[in-house]
Amino acid sequence: MTTRIAVVGGGTGGTVLANKLTSKLAAELDADEVKVILIDETGTHVYKPVWLYVAFGRADPSEGLRPLDDLLDRRVRLRTSRVTDVDTAGKRLTLGDGETLKYDHLVLATGARLVPDRVPGLAEGAHDFYSADGAERLRDALADFSGGRLVLSVAGMPHMCPAAPVEFTLMVEDWLRDRGLREASEVVYTAPTERSHKLPPVADWTDERFDARGVEAHTDFAVERVDPDERTLHAADGRALDYNLLVTIPPHAGVDLVADAGLGDDGWVETDPRTLEAVNAEDVYAIGDTTDIERPMAGSVAHYQAGTVAERIAAGVRGHTPTATYDGKVLCFLEAGLDEATFVSFDYDSLPDLREESKLVHWAKGAYNESYWLTARGLI
Ligand SMILES: Cc1cc2nc3c(=O)[nH]c(=O)nc-3n(C[C@H](O)[C@H](O)[C@H](O)COP(=O)(O)OP(=O)(O)OC[C@H]3O[C@@H](n4cnc5c(N)ncnc54)[C@H](O)[C@@H]3O)c2cc1C
Repeated sequence: MTTRIAVVGGGTGGTVLANKLTSKLAAELDADEVKVILIDETGTHVYKPVWLYVAFGRADPSEGLRPLDDLLDRRVRLRTSRVTDVDTAGKRLTLGDGETLKYDHLVLATGARLVPDRVPGLAEGAHDFYSADGAERLRDALADFSGGRLVLSVAGMPHMCPAAPVEFTLMVEDWLRDRGLREASEVVYTAPTERSHKLPPVADWTDERFDARGVEAHTDFAVERVDPDERTLHAADGRALDYNLLVTIPPHAGVDLVADAGLGDDGWVETDPRTLEAVNAEDVYAIGDTTDIERPMAGSVAHYQAGTVAERIAAGVRGHTPTATYDGKVLCFLEAGLDEATFVSFDYDSLPDLREESKLVHWAKGAYNESYWLTARGLI
């Protein structure tokens, strides 16, 4: 009998996982004992880190796009369709055209979605760089900006790439300096957390840079609404900040599919932090942004988790007890401006230890962005 492994989502986690499964289960695939099926609603892989650079006119959104057909091992069967229902009791998926698909092992790698409407006025009053369109509109707004109050506000937690708001703030500060607009501008940062960043070592590093570069930071700032006519950002505790240009990290949610299948609240799959198994169903794993695990929503996390799940499923297919576990590893670069960066690396047992920023690490981040397509293919 053929074992059917279904992966939902062709982003970083799903793509790396499907490719890793083909190398771990090469013999079984060749013998037709296993099928790996990846279902993605768009058929296009999106590398989102590019959007940060789009906002500064340093990249084009097309640089972050590849057809999944080009990235997936030829032994992966790609279905371009939206999964509309997961029946975990019957081990069956329903696709957009009504077709049903049986599975033996299911991996959800459906990512997160933006829900700007959860903050009144945000969609009308604020820019973002968390979508290709948003980053292009922000690029144009920055090009027109001639000075004033530029506010970067984290309007919801959790969100993808916890480093990105700090990166954007330090990059825009540099960018204003380069254009001779720094003296005519104020750079303001707000975070809903007690400190400028949830992780204390990152907050310490950030506070030092913000102080040195005159960034005004407001913490415990829970965004309640935006008033686009008055150009004011309001917090739940009554504080209000005026702005000339507002950039927000919009609130995020998981996908409806997850909540409808009873796998977790607000679309986040309730997931065991080490085995990556869904808590509320048998033979279901979750990786990447779609899990409720206390880890940054980062491509590196999805990548490491894909390795763990590939090993666990391969062991299960061979009738062995899966023993591989995820150790909480995270690796993220952090831009400290337009031409310097640092990086953080940590796991469940350690906190990040940040080094001084350097040009070398900035170049390393650029090189990683270029070589990302090898990672997606499961090669590094
Ligand atoms: C501006 C920005 C900068 C970032 N920078 C970094 C960085 O420097 N380093 C880093 O590590 N991370 C970074 N990230 C985060 C990183 O992009 C995400 O953490 C990563 O993409 C998560 O991968 P994923 O596979 O979980 O989800 P995604 O990559 O979002 O993929 C989800 C996939 O699921 C598909 N899907 C969803 N629902 C369905 C359905 N019902 N049926 C079929 N398909 C479905 C979608 O089409 C999509 O292809 C950044 C993110 C942003 C927005």
